[in-house]
Order: sequence, then structure tokens, then C-alpha cells
Amino acid sequence: MISKILIANRGEIALRVLRACKELGIATVAVHSTADADAMHVRLADESVCIGPPPSRESYLNIHQIVAACEITGADAVHPGYGFLSENAKFAEILEAHGITFIGPTAEHIRLMGDKITAKQTAMELGIPVVPGSDGEVKPENALENARQIGFPVLIKATAGGGGRGMKVAKTEADLEEALNTARSEAAAAFGNPAVYMEKYLGKPRHIEIQVVGDGEGNAVHLGERDCSLQRRHQKVWEEANSPALNVEQRMKIGQICADAMKKLKYRGAGTIEFLYENGEFYFIEMNTRLQVEHPVTEAITGIDLVHEQIRVASGGGLSVKQEDITFHGHAIECRINAEDPRTFVPSPGTITHFHAPGGLGVRVDSGAYAGYRIPPYYDSLIGKLIVHGRTRVECMMRLRRVLDEFVVDGIKTTLPLFQDLVSNPDIANGDYDIHWLEHYLAGEPTH
Ligand code: ADP
Repeated sequence: MISKILIANRGEIALRVLRACKELGIATVAVHSTADADAMHVRLADESVCIGPPPSRESYLNIHQIVAACEITGADAVHPGYGFLSENAKFAEILEAHGITFIGPTAEHIRLMGDKITAKQTAMELGIPVVPGSDGEVKPENALENARQIGFPVLIKATAGGGGRGMKVAKTEADLEEALNTARSEAAAAFGNPAVYMEKYLGKPRHIEIQVVGDGEGNAVHLGERDCSLQRRHQKVWEEANSPALNVEQRMKIGQICADAMKKLKYRGAGTIEFLYENGEFYFIEMNTRLQVEHPVTEAITGIDLVHEQIRVASGGGLSVKQEDITFHGHAIECRINAEDPRTFVPSPGTITHFHAPGGLGVRVDSGAYAGYRIPPYYDSLIGKLIVHGRTRVECMMRLRRVLDEFVVDGIKTTLPLFQDLVSNPDIANGDYDIHWLEHYLAGEPTH
């Protein structure tokens, strides 16, 4: 059994995990940098340890300091949240070597999914549909042959990729050499590894991902999908469940494929299998072996607390639900509230002078912000998430419009006005958007 959890994160997700621990009667330890001494996750935790100066690599990414904090406080488990060390296999291994439970998958599974080519290969072996593409790495001398086999347009992607870097489209044979060279040099600069692979380029896909949870013993369930097509620079902005593009049969079919794959893998913990979806087909792009920012939309429509499940399976208690117990109710939308200018997206750190979170039926606000809180300039600009639930998508949108009008964050700029625009947009009302929609919209271009 787990009796004390150290939360190796900050901001809204540290608070989110802390809430689950309190509900389960588990003691909590917050860690923080000197810049976060006043943060809400520190105030609400049972104990807290300062682990270093503001830069993440000296605090939230500092494995030695975090292990030391566990030893000082006697924490017997670590929840990594998302980002930071959540997909660091070495961190998981070091914790286990110290007899501390890592609330997440095995180091082996983190590694398997961390490398894009191995992940795609594994997905294929597990029966998950993937994007047609090269068989592993593409060498410059074989690039043309590979591209002709796949068919233009092709996308060249860094094998070590992340955050959309080292990715280039070649529309025709004439573009290939330049796209390849640019992708390789970007990959070398960003990841210290120029290796690339190739995929069929999908023109107008949606981003649809499946939430899974496994117990590590061969039992696994899926909790349906999230549609995260509304993105800016490959960063998700608005997420919803269910996807406006899927019907029940499609949902249960792809969900079952993913659950079966996780059973075969004996996957432990929460995970997300990400797909591009076009013309009724799913194409695997990657798997995230952690809790995701957008997990609350799934919680809203299933009523299942994903952090509770993570903690249960990490302590060997198994899943609390079977697939047949999981039902989907209504519709949920999440808006990511960033401390950024809503037009230029330039970060806007500073002091929040007034803060009023909306409430009412079907409203959830996950945020560590409060009036007087000073947003430090060192970290991600996400200051909160607004999640709205309704019996139908129409009801959910009506509620979202009301709730956005009620939300007040003064003293800094936030992305709230962007959501006020989106909620009144006819394409969004119709669920008619793909992964390029938001970029076109923001650029004032035709959106289809
Ligand atoms: P990263 O790890 O760098 O974020 P992903 O493989 O997750 O890379 O892809 C990031 C984004 O790039 C996707 O969400 C999608 O917008 C786009 N993308 C990736 N693969 C393709 C493809 N084959 N065709 C079209 N767009 C793609």
C-alpha cells in the first residue's frame, strides 16, 4: 500500500494529483523551486520541500534532489504529473532502485514508446493501425525510392522528434532533397541526432486520441476518445470528448483495439494512444505513457477519476472498473487558459490582481491561480483549465459561453478572449474542424 506520495510537479497538475491523494487518505509531499514557494500546491500539501532554484533543470528536473526529498520525508511513491520527469525512464528506474514506487508504467514501456520508430513498430505488432511510411530510418540515398513507394506528399520526421520539430513536408519529388536536408539539420540541432523517417502526409486529419488504463497484469480498459484537433503550433488549445467526428461503433472499435493492445503489452498505468484520423481511418502517431493535460474531459463523461486509477494500479490494487462498467455520458470541452496575449501568444507573466472562477452545474476549474498570485516567468504558461460538461454538445457549448463570460482574471493577459471567439464560431458549433483549422483562423485565412 502507498501511504505518502511525493508530487514531482507544479501548477494545476500538482494540485490535481494532491486532490486525488486527499480523497484516498494518502499523505502528500509537494516539491517546489524557490520561485514557487507561495504556490497553491505547496500551501495545500501536508509537507513541502524546496528542491532548488527557478530553472527547471535545477529543480523540477533534478532527479537527485527529488529522490533526496523522498528520503527526507519518507514518501513511498512519486506521482510525476505530466511534462518534466513523467516520461523519463531513468527516473522511474532510479526510484524503483530506491524502493520508491513510480506512479506510471515500467521503465521498459516508457522507453519503448519514447523512440518514435520503436513505438510505431510496437504499435503495428500490437495490431494498432499506423500511418503508411518507411520501414524505420530513411538514409538520404534511399529517400527517393522510399518516397515513391509511400506516394507524395510525404512527411519527413525526426526519429528523436518532439514538439513538432524536425518535421518537413515534401509535396513533390522536386521538394524532397531540400525537405530532407532541412529536417535532418533541424533534428541534429534539436535532438543531437539527424536520423529521420518518412510517412504519408495526411492533408486534413483530425487528432483523436484514446485514453487507456492497465493494471500491469494483462487487464486494460479504454475510456473512449478525446478530439484535440484545435492546435496552435502542435500545442493543443481546446479538447473535447466525445469527438464530434465519431459515432458509437467507431469509438468502441478503435477503443477496443487499443485496450487489447495494452492487454498484450501488460501495460501499467494511464496512457494515451494518439492518432490522426482522416476519411474514417485511424493512423497511430505516438503513445504518451503518462497522464495528459486534457484528461478531465474523459473524467467528465465517464465519471472515473484517472488519478485514483493510477494510484490503485501502482499500489497493486488493480483497476476499479471493467470495460462493461464504463459508459459515456454527455459531452465535455476543456479550454486551456494560458497567461499569454490572446492574439500574439506572447507570454504574460506577472501578478494576478483579481481572480474569479466560474461555477455552477457541469463546471470544473483546475488551477493553482488566485488573486495576488505572481506567475513566475520560468515555466509553461498554462495557468488553469476550464472544463465544462453538458448532456449534449449543444448544452455544453451553451454552458461554456455563459461560463467564459463569468471568468475573471485581471492583471495579466490570458487566452480567455480566444475561447469567447471560438465558442461563437459556426465551424466550432458544428464540430467541423481539422488540425489546421485554428492556424488558418488565427491567420485570418479561409478555415477549410
Ligand atoms: P511530435 O512528437 O514532434 O509532437 P507527432 O508525431 O506527435 O510529433 O506529430 C505532431 C503533429 O504533427 C500531429 O499532431 C500532426 O498535427 C502533425 N503530423 C504528424 N504526422 C503527420 C502526418 N503523417 N501527416 C500530417 N500531419 C502529421
